[in-house]
Amino acid sequence: MHYTNTHTRKLVEQYREISLLNKTKALLDWDLNVNLPPKASEARAAQMAQLTSLITDRWLDSGFKSLLEKVTEKKDTLTQPEQAMVRNLNWSAKYYYRVPKELIVEFSKTTSEAFMAWQQAKKEDNFKLFLPHLTKIIKLNQLTAEHLGFTDNPYDALLDQFEQGLTTQQCKIMFEHLRTELTTLLKVIQKSKHHRESLDLVGEKHHYSLKRQRQLSQFALKKLGYDIQAGHFGQSAHPFTTNIHRLDVRITTWYDRHDPRPSLMATIHEAGHALYEQGVSEEYDLTPLDSGVSLGIHESQSRFWENQVGRNPIFLHFMTPVLQAFFPEQLADVPEEEISRLFNHVQPSLTRVEADEVTYNLHLALRYELEEALITNKIKPKDLSEIWKAKMKEYIGVVPMTDREGVLQDVHWSYGVFGYFPTYTLGNLYAAQFTQTLKKELPLDELLRRGDLGTVLSWLRENIHQHGSLYWPDELVKRVSGEELTATYLVDYLNTKYRSIYS
Ligand code: MG
Repeated sequence: MHYTNTHTRKLVEQYREISLLNKTKALLDWDLNVNLPPKASEARAAQMAQLTSLITDRWLDSGFKSLLEKVTEKKDTLTQPEQAMVRNLNWSAKYYYRVPKELIVEFSKTTSEAFMAWQQAKKEDNFKLFLPHLTKIIKLNQLTAEHLGFTDNPYDALLDQFEQGLTTQQCKIMFEHLRTELTTLLKVIQKSKHHRESLDLVGEKHHYSLKRQRQLSQFALKKLGYDIQAGHFGQSAHPFTTNIHRLDVRITTWYDRHDPRPSLMATIHEAGHALYEQGVSEEYDLTPLDSGVSLGIHESQSRFWENQVGRNPIFLHFMTPVLQAFFPEQLADVPEEEISRLFNHVQPSLTRVEADEVTYNLHLALRYELEEALITNKIKPKDLSEIWKAKMKEYIGVVPMTDREGVLQDVHWSYGVFGYFPTYTLGNLYAAQFTQTLKKELPLDELLRRGDLGTVLSWLRENIHQHGSLYWPDELVKRVSGEELTATYLVDYLNTKYRSIYS
């Protein structure tokens, strides 16, 4: 990496320490989710809190701060990658410089307690146990938004923490468009003669060997191009990816002995996240450009592989003999169309993480609307349980009988994160838009029919992965697709695909 002046070089050198501390923390976090002995949770919390405090000190270090100010003043004289680094540093530093340390500490303490309360509340199906914690978390998020600053809506300040520049107004347009289109499509599917309430090939009566499922996932990882020599494939309660270094990107999956789909699809999803990190230019290692740019773009990579590839009927044509070879007793005589319908089964359900492609974004629309209304005091936390049920009925057509399956479903609010959920939907939008461009440049169907995923990966590496955080999401999407982000491509894709499957 070339540096225009010594200040810039020094700034990036100092950031290296922050980066190394962050990655060490990521390793502790991975270990916490995969290996931690039950008795070690307090010890681990203390270790992680110590690292967080070190990281905060590094950001607040007066030498670092004044270097960043000096370099920012002269940013017009810098190269493009340098300018991008300075932009990224200022964006990350905003939180440390604007939000008072007491508030950061209180937030951290509140969320640790809230997480434990949420677990208990979910176990007992008692929202009241979580309510005081949630109320406080909302208050602290409102305060944080005030400190961060915003023009129109305090929720904007929170959204920006997860997706640079994302606004409430953009979310509003996006979710209204999706809600109208997807509720209509859902009705069409439910009226189709191919629609099934339950499935014959999976469920309680069936047993899919866990060993075979793991081998199938390993087959998929190899096919996708995940570099296992620069990663690790494990198991955890919820699948996730941890980036410890470009050459140490770990993923996990989960297993259901009655159904081979969750493990395979989660493996493909997490591999999509990992391929992004493994593909960032080596030149950017340990700089502010060295990883995926935003949650939305990250999710676009996982959803691309999971849905645009993994659930694509043409790719499932390639996968049918593979699935039949791994599970001959269950699938040997099952025709390709049935396998495709199995992986593309649409059925309204209560749980977001189990939702199909059509209803998934409706679950997110609900969460976005509730968050925005809570942050702007349009609704009260104590009414959430009832509002959740009413919206589920309106959007998805099913109503949770319990809070466990309703308002207590997701862990996110107990972590204190507000503004995160919309990035899941953004990921689907970006993925559909990128696919549209990819198809103009590559014969995607032909490649998927042959199972040639290497060519697809090369395209993503060239256009998206190698850049790491060089371009912000709005710039990246324009560079790749030539236009701003729009929900149109996702809507068209879902309509075409599911009207054909459920014709
Ligand atoms: Mg993901």
